[in-house]
Amino acid sequence: MNTPALKVTVLGCSGSYASAGGACTGFLVQSPQANVWLDAGPGTLANLQDHIRLSELTAIVLSHEHADHWLELPVVYNAIRHYVLCEPIPVYGTIGTFALARNMCEDIEESFTCNVIKDKSSTVIGDQEWRWSRTDHYVETLASRVEVGDSSMVFSADTGPEWDVTQLGPDIGLLIAESTFLSHREKEKILHLSARQAGIMAEHANVSHLVLSHLAPGEQPSQHLQEASEAFAGEISLACVGKEFVA
Ligand SMILES: [Zn+2]
Repeated sequence: MNTPALKVTVLGCSGSYASAGGACTGFLVQSPQANVWLDAGPGTLANLQDHIRLSELTAIVLSHEHADHWLELPVVYNAIRHYVLCEPIPVYGTIGTFALARNMCEDIEESFTCNVIKDKSSTVIGDQEWRWSRTDHYVETLASRVEVGDSSMVFSADTGPEWDVTQLGPDIGLLIAESTFLSHREKEKILHLSARQAGIMAEHANVSHLVLSHLAPGEQPSQHLQEASEAFAGEISLACVGKEFVA
């Protein structure tokens, strides 16, 4: 079988904190010429190494400064500095994330090259074209779009319902959307999506395949699938650790 142009492997998908045996948010985004770790939530470092060695990472992308999305970085800092000894790995993240990371890594440039990204930033990582869009969340948070040839995926990161996914352009194959709660909590105005709102987002952008992630511990996955399917007619999956999706 041919290697897919763009493959995403779930390294962690628990919302806010990891449920038993789980891990917070993280994905491995692979194409023929790049291995990118997208969000480094607690628990994802161990799972990453089921697929690649740290020295094989092309880059790390961090959506925002909330702890459940990046706190493996200071651990990787030590791993590279003392054990792996590879060249510094490029890291893309917000100003706020780097401010926190610099406090936890004595000399961050020993292990990483730090690239600040913001709304509408773009870059090329190997054969992957990346673009970012600021979402509707409590701190500066960036959703990502990745393209390789005709394949494309979007990761919503954390967002409330006011962010418009089409800011990242048309023709999205795979949408990994957060789905923290069910719709009965929408009235609380929490800046996260319900499964219903994730479905509406997928329908609005006319994506091919919606993957629900970031369910809060205690949520019932089957109910999230049900709610999302009432708003979106296309293919819907639930993220779970180790699962692979082709964009
Ligand atoms: Zn957050």
